[in-house]
Amino acid sequence: MDILTGLVVWAAQATTLSLLLFVWWMRDRSQMFKLSWSVAFALLAGGLLLVGLRGQIATFLSVEIANTMLLASIGLLIGGMQQFDGKRIDPYIAIPALIWVGGMLLPFIREDFSARVILYNVAASIGFAMFIAIVLHIRSGRTWARRLLAGVLGIHIASSLTNAAMAALSVATSFSTMPSPAFVLLPGAFCFVAAVLTGAQMMTEQSEERLKALASTDPLTGILNRRGLINEFQARCTSVVPDKPLVALLHFDIDNFKQINDRYGHQAGDGVLVAFSRLASISLSPRGAFGRMGGEEFASVLRVADMVEAASIAEGLRMTLALQTLSAGEHRFGVTVSVGIALKPAAEADLDHLLSAADRALYAAKAAGRNCTAVEQGNAATIIPSAAMLTRHEMALEIHASEQVATLRRLSAVATS
Ligand code: GH3
Ligand code: MG
Ligand code: MG
Repeated sequence: MDILTGLVVWAAQATTLSLLLFVWWMRDRSQMFKLSWSVAFALLAGGLLLVGLRGQIATFLSVEIANTMLLASIGLLIGGMQQFDGKRIDPYIAIPALIWVGGMLLPFIREDFSARVILYNVAASIGFAMFIAIVLHIRSGRTWARRLLAGVLGIHIASSLTNAAMAALSVATSFSTMPSPAFVLLPGAFCFVAAVLTGAQMMTEQSEERLKALASTDPLTGILNRRGLINEFQARCTSVVPDKPLVALLHFDIDNFKQINDRYGHQAGDGVLVAFSRLASISLSPRGAFGRMGGEEFASVLRVADMVEAASIAEGLRMTLALQTLSAGEHRFGVTVSVGIALKPAAEADLDHLLSAADRALYAAKAAGRNCTAVEQGNAATIIPSAAMLTRHEMALEIHASEQVATLRRLSAVATS
């Protein structure tokens, strides 16, 4: 197969990929990396065809423009990778193409075949090195596909630099007079296919990750659903936290939620669920896992030092909610929540057992008049003395004072009464 046929086949593959990615992007325009890669492959195809026509069309087109297109395509592949990773495209992706364009402004490079080959391959190598950095710089972990892609790009750098060295050593004045022109193209074509395959694998991995996240997310509130929370439970139990030996399960149930739905409509009810999720996430997510168990019931799994810490966290959230005014249309209303807590040493914690114990405590909190917290201890539920009888101002003061001290004070008041 001669070089021209090889280039045409390669360009045809790149065109097909470009079209596929474009159609794919049209179906979901939020995934901009598909558009970037589509344009990159179109530039690659165009550049390869112009290179193939070398000698038959103006040199300006087949050399200057063709190589600019090829290097711009590397830049857009890098930019697409950044978008794929959820980042914005950095302007420095233009560096490989700019190096080339800059070189072409210098006559001693533009008119010297070896100098052009060296410049092109050095610019391409810089692009591939940037690509490797982007592929490996990922917080969510380097998958084997990412490592493989980095390896393929590494091979590409090696072959590009070999090309540059060969051009420097040879006396060739064009590709046809180089000792082995096929050597210039074959590694590039090999890396193209390998990179496309690993790229496809990376997209599959990302879709799987998305599906997994979707399966454990509650669509209304965006927090973990029951399944997601159950998955988190094990991790919270097995992690080693020496100063927090207990696992606490906090079970929240919005009070009289049915009435909110009945009075203000289902949509207002949904708004309450979202508002509570936001509030609770701010307080609970930094300390542990928080999710929606279903309906107007939520739960949190936390590592705590003792019962007082768990009760303080729950009380802090309960009182903060009680102080809020929510709105639906022209209606303004308050919402309260009851909390049931169960605790176990992390090594002995069993989810079913904790759930039913927290549920019993929650039942006791409801029976005690709602808007309060109860802790299940040795088959009996202790109601944390309600702060509901305090004025709003006193409650606010209490929240701002150390929650822990406040709860301790109320607990000790019960103990001594
Ligand atoms: P209690 O204080 O005893 O917890 O009373 P409650 O009214 O909160 O509890 P109940 O279990 O009687 O009612 C829960 C209501 O929650 C019934 C159901 O229609 C409503 N609900 C469940 N899921 C959703 C939802 O996703 N959105 C809305 N708006 N309502 C929901
Ligand atoms: Mg309920
Ligand atoms: Mg309820």
